[in-house]
Amino acid sequence: MSKFNQLISSFTIVLFLICSSIKETKADNSSHQSVVDSTMIRTIYDQALVNGEAYDNLRVLCKSVGHRLSGSPAADKAVVWGEQVLKKMGLDTVYLQEIKVPHWDRGNLEQAWINSGKPRELRIATLGGSVASKGKITAGVIEVQSLEEVKNLDPQKVKGKFVFYNRPMDARKISTFDAYGGCVDQRYWGAVEAAAAGAIGVFVRSMTTLESDHFPHTGSMGYSDTVTKIPAVALATEDANYIHDQLLKNPSITLSMNINPTWNPDKKSYNVIGELRGSEFPDKIMVVGGHLDSWDLGEGAHDDGAGIVHSMEALRLLKAAGYRPRHTIRVVLFMNEENGNMGGKSYASIAHDLREDHVVAIESDRGGFTPRGFSLVGNETQLKMIQSFRELLEPYGLHFFEFGYGGVDIGPLAQPLNKIDADLMLLGLVPDSQRYFDFHHTADDVFENVNKRELELGCASMASMLYLLDKTLHPIK
Ligand SMILES: [Zn+2]
Repeated sequence: MSKFNQLISSFTIVLFLICSSIKETKADNSSHQSVVDSTMIRTIYDQALVNGEAYDNLRVLCKSVGHRLSGSPAADKAVVWGEQVLKKMGLDTVYLQEIKVPHWDRGNLEQAWINSGKPRELRIATLGGSVASKGKITAGVIEVQSLEEVKNLDPQKVKGKFVFYNRPMDARKISTFDAYGGCVDQRYWGAVEAAAAGAIGVFVRSMTTLESDHFPHTGSMGYSDTVTKIPAVALATEDANYIHDQLLKNPSITLSMNINPTWNPDKKSYNVIGELRGSEFPDKIMVVGGHLDSWDLGEGAHDDGAGIVHSMEALRLLKAAGYRPRHTIRVVLFMNEENGNMGGKSYASIAHDLREDHVVAIESDRGGFTPRGFSLVGNETQLKMIQSFRELLEPYGLHFFEFGYGGVDIGPLAQPLNKIDADLMLLGLVPDSQRYFDFHHTADDVFENVNKRELELGCASMASMLYLLDKTLHPIK
């Protein structure tokens, strides 16, 4: 602990002791609590912004481990890295939770061309989970805007061709996650619908708000057992626009595709877990986490290196501020969010078998941008509770406290089978979303595109929310 840390911690403790010794009326008590809380939150932010370790942790994760798709050697390396960092933090417990993960590999061929005159190479990324094209395949192309449109096409027109899904993300939506949600069905189900109509492969416009982007954006896709599995790739939006323009001039142009991904047997992997044990309710657990795996392009810096270092740093900040939690606070670095969610599912199922009592789960998986607030999966009382924190958190730029989404990894905890505590609340950190889909699932999701200050504010937001929930839940009667 540095001199600065010691000073701040001692100040917090002295303030607490002074305040504790005063006999108060109820009104005095609540104003005293709010002084204690605002002092603690100030301490947390000071620690994050002056002595933060998240940015350096992210640098090592991005530069020494790199991208880390489930089942890859880099994913194994990320597990070792995560365990080491948590151990250095001096938590009460650090352990690995064994899970099984799917193992898909992109392969070394990722080529596509538009053949109008001299063939021109297209910038593509094979979609996660796609089958191989088994050599170079060439065919005509039908451009569509939706799955629905494919359903209504004359199968004779689609048979033996590529389907090109070209509906952009809706620019009018202020939350880019809403725009993504309104568009991603083309990527996920595009191959199923196209195969049902007799197509031999699929090109999908990348899921990004950038109108003109030269990076293709990968992501997961699904198949159905009832139709042929056909290969599918994402196109950089610049190339999607180019194909669109060429098709207007000549509808009979052809495209070619040559990709060789492979599906391999499932592999052993791990969730990485660390705990600060609760002083009053050690059996009541508050989880904070993100996902350790990433797509196999770029460095998984925003998605979800940021969430990983946010979550680890949140525990470190509480410790550095001299705060001893009443509930057990557990950080979980989930494996396999991107293509299977086996980390989240296995964690919930083990928690269920062990009859663990989870009261809160907070996830950060929306990038390392300036935090704006939290979204909640819970009830009205819980919403009122987090909205009551607004006064304390607004000075730090946090104003959004609404019902919304928690996170993919923590989602299974709330499924009926696993729901042990009916009062479990799920929270998602909500950063500014405007630039997230500039980088999402691309080779450009690298450390250099994460801003240090914005990242640190996210860490302090997570720590402050944990602190306030820990203080507020299960009040002493
Ligand atoms: Zn993610």
